[in-house]
Amino acid sequence: MKLGNLVLDRWIDGDGVGKTLSSAVDGKPVANISSDGLDFHSMLQHARSLGGRNLRALTFHERGEMLKALAKYLMEHKKEFYALSTQTGATHADSWVDIDGGISTLFVFSSKGRREMPNDFVYLDGPPEILSKKGTFVGQHIYTPKLGAAVHINAYNFPVWGMLEKLAPTLLAGVPTIVKPASSTAYLTELVVKRIVESEILPKGSIQLICGGVGDLFDHLNCQDTIAFTGSKATAEKLQQHHRVVSESVAFTAETDSLNASILGPDAKPGTPEFDLFISEVTREMTSKAGQKCTAIRRIIAPGNIAADLVRALSTALGEIRIGNPANRDVDMGALASQEQRDEVRDRIGDLAKEADIVYGGSEDFELVDADAKKGAFFMPTLLHCEKPMSSKAVHSVEAFGPVSTVLPYDNLDEAIELARLGEGSLAGSIITNDNDVAKKLILGTAAYHGRMLVINRHCAAESTGHGSPLPHLIHGGPGRAGGGEEMGGIRGVKHYMQRTAIQGSPETLSVIGNRWIRGANELDPGVHPFRKTFEQLRIGDTLNTESREVTLDDIDHFAEFTGDTFYAHTDEAAAAKNPFFDGRVAHGYLIVSFAAGLFVDPDFGPVLANYGVDDLRFIQPVNFGDSLRVRLTCKQKTLRGDSGYGEVRWDAEVSNQNGDCVAQYDVLTMVATDDHWASVA
Ligand code: NAP
Repeated sequence: MKLGNLVLDRWIDGDGVGKTLSSAVDGKPVANISSDGLDFHSMLQHARSLGGRNLRALTFHERGEMLKALAKYLMEHKKEFYALSTQTGATHADSWVDIDGGISTLFVFSSKGRREMPNDFVYLDGPPEILSKKGTFVGQHIYTPKLGAAVHINAYNFPVWGMLEKLAPTLLAGVPTIVKPASSTAYLTELVVKRIVESEILPKGSIQLICGGVGDLFDHLNCQDTIAFTGSKATAEKLQQHHRVVSESVAFTAETDSLNASILGPDAKPGTPEFDLFISEVTREMTSKAGQKCTAIRRIIAPGNIAADLVRALSTALGEIRIGNPANRDVDMGALASQEQRDEVRDRIGDLAKEADIVYGGSEDFELVDADAKKGAFFMPTLLHCEKPMSSKAVHSVEAFGPVSTVLPYDNLDEAIELARLGEGSLAGSIITNDNDVAKKLILGTAAYHGRMLVINRHCAAESTGHGSPLPHLIHGGPGRAGGGEEMGGIRGVKHYMQRTAIQGSPETLSVIGNRWIRGANELDPGVHPFRKTFEQLRIGDTLNTESREVTLDDIDHFAEFTGDTFYAHTDEAAAAKNPFFDGRVAHGYLIVSFAAGLFVDPDFGPVLANYGVDDLRFIQPVNFGDSLRVRLTCKQKTLRGDSGYGEVRWDAEVSNQNGDCVAQYDVLTMVATDDHWASVA
């Protein structure tokens, strides 16, 4: 079977016979791979023109809906992905991380996109910046999709998750992709892309696939393209220095190798729950995916006085791991991805063994379940111990990308911090301690060297997602040898594929561009009370200016008694006068907000369905009895909630006193019925 390349929305075979890819389990051929003869330049053009145009025609919410539909479709087909995944050496549990983990990333980005981004084409970055005294000239940062293609180059260890974790934020941003999986496991990625194409959920041009080398693709990149690379540091450095990447300043995100550390706190002695947690966490990280995880624990930093207990406990736990045919459900650890990978891991252990002792594993002779050691790429979990880690180089720099880890003893916390830093930048680190002061010291000492850090103790262990699991909500990436990149992290990951631009102009111009009303922009006469208008009828800028209402001393007394908020500033004239902010008794802030609602609401049954909160509430000036309040309420932003029958409407509320001074300002959040819904109930 020759793997297809998805080029200009058509499946195309590369020239020649191609390279044969073999099963990690029995060495039999699985597929042939070739991308020779592809027109890489046309692929970029196709993505930029058709794919980009199609995706940018959708709002963030529509793209989010698209990701959800895609996730559901892939869920229906996951059985065949699991079946093929065993050929990569993955057990069912490994495949779950890759396949279900990848699909759940689509779900998370879909939901975050619809909850945290507007149902619009422009993403506003923060509030407006006031740039002038009279407020007629303001600034606003906005994000818009880059007008190029996102080239995704992935590592072999997670052929599904590796693709989907990059695809989700990219498509949400409105940017088309060209996916290039690592050759050795590309057959699984290709199968998933086939299902994606068959689903017809993504618009034309939004995804293309290269199975094989990338030819002259890089020679045609421009400043609107992005590269997201996952793989070895050596390849990242080479690609980052490509003349086109340099001359066009092509955005380049690199996720590379990592000598991730897990630190055991001095309190976590044998017999404590934290010690046991550490043993199971390290064992799992060493053996899940046969240790072929960029986030796996490679360095076990532990108090020197319990190092012997630790080695003993880890050796016992590793001895219980059943290695063999990943299709067999009794097996805990499958094979490495290829015979070459197994040879590579063996060589790297040779490098480590010059400075550390092998204390478990390292043998060619071990028991296998339902598999042939000569045909598959099986490897025994191997634990090393380095007596003098502060002066060792290899243990902090050699990555054996398999079930391999080294124990590094420390004498005190400063030494533990120094050892963690010697990894020179990691994707993930963990600390196992029940002493929060130890956790704080270690985090402050090492966070700058990490992209993500996890602190585990008896209180969170049961629900912890574990050291090695990147989550779509949190950033994945790290400084230094981890590549310096950052992926995912919710909407942060979407922004990598967008350009941030500072826009300057009048409040009215910026309100129109961003679809969000800015103070100083036009206030429109709604014609009727704005609460009588449906979602569609409301215009951004529709403004209600209310009557005024005086705040009396009786009101303040009544509010204090009624609510139980008898704080002295509202009830004790002499005490209030001693307060530096007040010159006597003042109205409660919540009284001001309540009176404001009384002034602006239209009480009759109408399209406004509910008030679900306020944002950014600030009390600007005290209100004394005798003051009169009035409100300006302006329709600020509208977000349609799919076909739910309503949309969210955000109102800019400003409460002022008889002198026109602002005393409180905030956003009122409401749900407003659409025309259809309102017609059906009114
Ligand atoms: P690799 O050899 O660097 O390959 C990574 C990707 O780059 C593959 O798709 C590979 O394609 C491609 N590639 C290689 N040379 C290229 C070139 N000249 N132009 C364009 N693409 C090129 O790494 P690997 O051996 O597959 O993966 C293992 C490494 O990845 C480990 O060091 C591991 O730590 C790291 N990793 C990091 C993460 C992370 O998130 N940080 C995740 C997983 C793995 P071919 O396969 O076709 O050569």
